[in-house]
Amino acid sequence: MDSLFGKVIWIGREPQKSRLLLAVKSGDGIKTATIGDYGCVSNCVSCCKPNEDTAHCKITMGQDGTMIIHNLKPQNVTYVNGLEVDVKKLSNQCKVTLGKDKYPIDIEQITEAVRNIVGYSISHLEKVWEDYDNALYRLQKRQKNLGLIKSLYMPCTVLTGLIGYVFKSIGVESSNTLENISMGLYVIAAIVLFYGLYRTITDRSIEDRKLLDKKFQEDYVCPKCKHFLGVRPYKILRQDEFCQYNKCKWAE
Ligand SMILES: [Zn+2]
Repeated sequence: MDSLFGKVIWIGREPQKSRLLLAVKSGDGIKTATIGDYGCVSNCVSCCKPNEDTAHCKITMGQDGTMIIHNLKPQNVTYVNGLEVDVKKLSNQCKVTLGKDKYPIDIEQITEAVRNIVGYSISHLEKVWEDYDNALYRLQKRQKNLGLIKSLYMPCTVLTGLIGYVFKSIGVESSNTLENISMGLYVIAAIVLFYGLYRTITDRSIEDRKLLDKKFQEDYVCPKCKHFLGVRPYKILRQDEFCQYNKCKWAE
């Protein structure tokens, strides 16, 4: 799940420095980020003061990823695609401007900046790891069973020789019973041999393993920099706060 789901992003002008200020309240306090250079936001945009719960506007993120923008005070003006709004559902493509001078803000840039401060959620990787681990276990079990089938051939042939030897030692050189048992064991050995051979020829373990690894390497990646995170169990990964490749912050 995206780490922004369920969050509220307060947006306004930064007091004094007049950059675009974004603020998000999370479990351990208020986190802020700024966009642009000093003085880049005009005075027509109201100040963002997260401690006082005031800003020009706010975006509430639903648990399903929907974004809704709220103009916070009647004297503020918020436009979506050129129309003045109080409350409006947003998409990344919407053109949002603030204040009478219509200061433009980029929704995608804002959500990206906020993700950088609250961190990127990696909780979906738990299932990716579990699926890989289970598939690998099934594959290894399949290979073990195949090895077992192939190894059954030897005991069958050894047993055939052994029974002949036992009969010989008790004085029975030739009898129908002996021949039947020997023949039966030979047939079993032959079935096992050819079945093992058939299973070896039709076995796709190597191809399946290759596909499994390929998919895992595509899916088990840092949500920010997309770098493969290696064959490390999710529980171990979860002990880190950052991705070890590009220090991308991960959400708790
Ligand atoms: Zn990363």
